[in-house]
Amino acid sequence: MGEMEEDRDNVGKLFEDFVQSSTCKGALQAFNVLCRRLDLDPADNDIFYSSLKAKLTSWKAQALWSKLDKRMSHKEYKKGQACVGTKCLIIGGGPCGLRTAIELALMGAKVVVIEKRDSFARNNVLHLWPYTIHDLRGLGAKKFYGKFCAGAIDHISIQKLQLVLLKVALIVAVEFHINVEFVKLLEPPEDQENEGIGWRAAIRPADHPVANFEFDVVVGADGRRNTLEGFKRKEFRGKLAIAITANFINRNTTAEARVEEISGVAFIFNQKFFLDLKEETGIDLENIVYYRDNTHYFVMTAKKQSLLDKGVVIHDYIDTQMLLSSANVNQEALLCYAREAADFGTNYQLPTLDFAMNHCGQPDVAMFDFTNMYASDNAALVRERFGHQLLVALVGDSLLEPFWPMGTGCARGFLAAFDTAWMVKSWAQGRTALEVLAERESIYRLLPQTTTENIGKNFEQYTIDPGTRYPNLNSACVRPHQVRHLYITTELS
Ligand code: FAD
Repeated sequence: MGEMEEDRDNVGKLFEDFVQSSTCKGALQAFNVLCRRLDLDPADNDIFYSSLKAKLTSWKAQALWSKLDKRMSHKEYKKGQACVGTKCLIIGGGPCGLRTAIELALMGAKVVVIEKRDSFARNNVLHLWPYTIHDLRGLGAKKFYGKFCAGAIDHISIQKLQLVLLKVALIVAVEFHINVEFVKLLEPPEDQENEGIGWRAAIRPADHPVANFEFDVVVGADGRRNTLEGFKRKEFRGKLAIAITANFINRNTTAEARVEEISGVAFIFNQKFFLDLKEETGIDLENIVYYRDNTHYFVMTAKKQSLLDKGVVIHDYIDTQMLLSSANVNQEALLCYAREAADFGTNYQLPTLDFAMNHCGQPDVAMFDFTNMYASDNAALVRERFGHQLLVALVGDSLLEPFWPMGTGCARGFLAAFDTAWMVKSWAQGRTALEVLAERESIYRLLPQTTTENIGKNFEQYTIDPGTRYPNLNSACVRPHQVRHLYITTELS
């Protein structure tokens, strides 16, 4: 074998290691090795993708490039020039933070993502709408994860989705840091000596290089407990709703593969199922979902009385926090409850129901209160201090919390990611802050109402332009004078 051929084989192997890596750390490490070997630096974000592409020419790599090239050809990205010079910090490496990061990078922005955890460990499974499947395929999801949405399957575990998105993000030169926690925004300094220094973030650990990163856009993608200041939250109070999620080991046997999934049965649609369940087991549910993915995943909404009757919840408290506090929950009884419901729900066809473990090494079963769901009043705001403007946006669960049994988190989260990218583009192109904010709020009004039925059906045409996705778009329904309060010039608290 000639030297050049051997070299190509080695590089091909490093690329394959990256593509096949199965953990967050593994992907980061394999990517680093590959870049070093190819003498490429992702910090050169404007030329990184084209250089990588030129150096990786195996048919496998080319199959991925052709997917990504197609995506990059959207006219909205202006050949990767739409946001050149814009610097973005994204807080949170969940699916929505990563999805937003990719879009911003495709427009040529410099993007840094910080993630406080050090691994992708969530077994829970997200329901995908047809458009999200189409979107992820377009990013080459199948090249990274062969089983992605095989056949009629329309779901993916959170950790697998994060991993796919991380790999795409790295390829388009997004900088990704684990073990870095956002604490708060730091205003540009007032003193003459530091004049010129812009917005930065206080982070943990404080001496991490990201502490020096100055940015003009910050995106809060840190999940339901949004840490960015200045966003009022609306609360939707429903009737008491207690959800239980449970993951069991999937050994991928034929017997397991035969068991039918339940893509959401609610009481009103199948009263007999729930009455039989109650009669036979004492378990009283409002709905149940079962997906076979990396694990056998169940999510169900349980009625309080049956949790009390079955000894899962010990004392009855009106206050839901007290009701579901760990001191008031019998963990063993909760495991039995979840297992019994899973067994009945699958007609006793799953041969074994051994719990999968969560990242703490405990059986992966959890109980959550869904009585109150939150949505942010606004999707974005602008802060200005000492002549430095900062565009602040929310995406994903930080913006609009999903109802898990319906699995709207990822679908609406990605729509918000695209809408945010569209806003950043307008911002980068010099439209006034009030115009940009007014348009963003007009589009945000549509988000809570989106369903698989009422969004655009032509997924092939979807781009970050909201007009390609929302058929009834009126992007001027909120006027610039109505968003003046979102232009904030006062000091941060
Ligand atoms: P998330 O997925 O919550 O990601 C937020 C990320 O931000 C996390 O990785 C977090 O570590 C990081 N982060 C938080 N604070 C900081 C900070 N200060 N600095 C840096 N990083 C930070 N949906 C369902 O449909 N079904 C389910 O069963 C389900 N289970 C879930 C279980 C858990 C434990 C959680 C947290 C969420 C679950 N969801 C579920 C919701 C679903 O995960 C989200 O809708 C979806 O992942 C999109 O969310 P996101 O990217 O906006 O936020």
